[in-house]
Amino acid sequence: MGTFKAIRIDKAEKGTTATLAQFDEAELMEGDVTVRVEWSTLNYKDGLALTGKAPVVRRFPMIAGIDFAGTVEQSSHPNWKAGDKVVCNGWGMGETHLGAYAEKARVKGDWLVRLPDGMSARDAMAIGTAGYTAMLSVLALEKHGLTPKSGPVVVTGAAGGVGSVAIAVLSKLGYHVIASTGRVSETGYLKGLGAAEVTDRNELAGPAKPLAKERWAGGVDSVGSTTLANLLSMTKYGGAIAACGLAAGMDLPSSVAPFILRGVCLLGIDSVMCPIEQRRVAWSRLATDLDRAKLSEITQEIALADVVAQGARILAGQVRGRIVVKIV
Ligand code: NDP
Repeated sequence: MGTFKAIRIDKAEKGTTATLAQFDEAELMEGDVTVRVEWSTLNYKDGLALTGKAPVVRRFPMIAGIDFAGTVEQSSHPNWKAGDKVVCNGWGMGETHLGAYAEKARVKGDWLVRLPDGMSARDAMAIGTAGYTAMLSVLALEKHGLTPKSGPVVVTGAAGGVGSVAIAVLSKLGYHVIASTGRVSETGYLKGLGAAEVTDRNELAGPAKPLAKERWAGGVDSVGSTTLANLLSMTKYGGAIAACGLAAGMDLPSSVAPFILRGVCLLGIDSVMCPIEQRRVAWSRLATDLDRAKLSEITQEIALADVVAQGARILAGQVRGRIVVKIV
């Protein structure tokens, strides 16, 4: 058995440390498929794990990284054989199971999704958990019955990973997208992705009224807190907001008024334990409903050695769009 390169998280006297290190193959955890990881990505949660700002990592030593794309090297799972191209998101990788910032990963075959035809491993990680979560949000809104005819949709955290992909997908589907951002200087970027309007996130950041003027039929929120409360209070009768993030906080200082007086729905989105069938649908929709040219515009590439430094930047809200990590 050999060793491989990985971003290793260890417990320190105060907090945790994250370093590029050699990891022993014998230390890989249980799983029936071993994958040669080719690409990973940097999500907000990775930033939390790398900096130790939130207790994401619950086993030490840990390999950070919550998602990867790569090629199966060995498998005893009936669905997978050597050479298959796969993508994997969540399932506790980088939290309780050794994760994705590594040349090798061993996981359960039941966690894997086949890379859609025509989508490269790099594209899959340019999308990453952030983009797949944006698609889960769009699917939830569609299941609720939302269509472009229902009215405008709002996307918060617009210049971030979830936000950027949500805007690109929703605009391609024909929605009038209102992008809410703290970086109004990125208006050109957001309009290029397909936003019809750009608003300053401060407009949605204060305490929410129980009900306010109806502005949108639906939305994708990666911010939480008072922003989500404002979104709900401004949602049209019968509309829905898909809540997937907490960039501004875990709290939700809202009232029941939007639910009981306007029939508004709050749709919870979880990417980590999402059932495999839903994942397959999300990845196949990403293959058709996300413009690849736009995806490459929002993506920057870094090396494995750069991951730790970039982890702090994403938490500081300094990363625009998506970061893809070249593993080999
Ligand atoms: P990013 O850091 O790429 O994007 C977050 C964006 O939120 C920022 O770019 C910024 O957008 C906005 N933002 C940041 N801080 C604040 C603040 N204090 N107040 C208001 N807006 C703020 O992260 P991701 O897109 O990767 O993830 C977004 C959120 O979604 C995170 O909270 C993450 O944990 C969550 N998430 C949840 C998943 C799930 O399974 N439910 C899966 C993936 C992500 P701008 O500059 O445009 O204002």
